Amino acid sequence: MRRISIFGATGSIGENTVDLITRAGGAEAFDVVALSGGRNVARLAEQARELRADLAVTAFDDCYADLRDALAGTGIEVAAGADAVSEAATRSADWVMSSIVGAAGLLPGLKALEQGATLALANKESLVTAGPLLMQTAADHKATVLPVDSEHSAIFQGLVGEDPAAVERIVITASGGAFRDWPIDDLANATLAQASSHPNWDMGQRITIDSASMFNKALEVIEVKEFFGVHPDQIEVLVHPESIVHAIVGFNDGAMMAHMGAPDMRHAIGYALNWPDRRGLPVERLDLARIGALNFRAPDMRRYPALRLAYEVMATGGLAGAAFNAAKERALDGFIDGDIGFMDMAVVVERVLDMLSSDTGLNNVDITLDNVLNMDQIARQHAGDAIKTLMA
Ligand code: NAD
Ligand code: MG
Repeated sequence: MRRISIFGATGSIGENTVDLITRAGGAEAFDVVALSGGRNVARLAEQARELRADLAVTAFDDCYADLRDALAGTGIEVAAGADAVSEAATRSADWVMSSIVGAAGLLPGLKALEQGATLALANKESLVTAGPLLMQTAADHKATVLPVDSEHSAIFQGLVGEDPAAVERIVITASGGAFRDWPIDDLANATLAQASSHPNWDMGQRITIDSASMFNKALEVIEVKEFFGVHPDQIEVLVHPESIVHAIVGFNDGAMMAHMGAPDMRHAIGYALNWPDRRGLPVERLDLARIGALNFRAPDMRRYPALRLAYEVMATGGLAGAAFNAAKERALDGFIDGDIGFMDMAVVVERVLDMLSSDTGLNNVDITLDNVLNMDQIARQHAGDAIKTLMA
């Protein structure tokens, strides 16, 4: 039986993964090693019972007693805290879903790769903060990383059987998020509730807000560079309001292989679960005649400063990705807490990158875990300072 673990099982990607695992036979078909979650202890306990997991871990120490009580008498092992999450990732599994949100997903992903697991990677922050470390760890341990972002799964599928040297360009699409049709001047006053609803995709709150600001697409552009090893100049972003075409691979003969599918993450998750095979998935079949038209336009860089910053981060290289992601996470906290406005998030991130540009650490190409975590801390600190300045 295939041994699997899911990190971030209670989130949007995690729930979709549990759904596919359950449809594929659940505890009868899979040996579920570990499930991790956060504060939604009741749901984590329910998942652990249904899938008969060996271990359930909450990332937060203060949730331990609740999880223990919820699983009392089941024989399921219970643990809490960040270290316990990482320890769970050291337990042998064949397939591991990395779907924790934020930089907290990096260490469990690395631990899973060190034991040679196939890592289904939804946690894009791992590649943005420590791409070279993640890919090298996979290579060192003969582990496989499979992308679980709709665009990156689409690119991965477009490259099957192709010579990577024949790739000329990679285009990822963006829905444009919640505010794609808003007048630019209104964006500064966008509220948390408005930014937290997505026109096409049903996702966790943080990535939904990042979609509205295009910080999500900024992370994804860097993710393309790190995963597929292409030059930043080869990566393009197209606004595509229908979210039907997820990515396009352009080859040296001018051919463009586009991947289409309904906007449902179970497609990318299922592809990673069944890879290298394809199996039936419970996703909508598209009726293109009914959809009629697909639209594409270039992103307006004034509307989406995050995209411009992504290309600057790639040009800097080194630990700039770690700084960018951490500053973005802190700025997002600031917006969620009501301390700064929607457009201030990019202002904060740009200030942090400016503050750090003179710092020798930023373009340090020695991407070790310590260096990444250290840069993460520094950038969060600077972002906090920048937020205070904006609030004053
Ligand atoms: P979510 O907020 O719905 O779920 C996040 C999960 O991580 C939850 O299980 C939560 O308990 C856990 N978590 C939160 N903070 C944690 C911490 N500090 N330590 C350990 N666990 C913690 O997020 P999501 O939308 O499912 O996204 C998860 C990841 O997948 C993100 O990296 C996101 O960018 C990526 N992703 C999501 C989608 C999507 O459709 N939701 C699409 C592509 C990529
Ligand atoms: Mg995506």
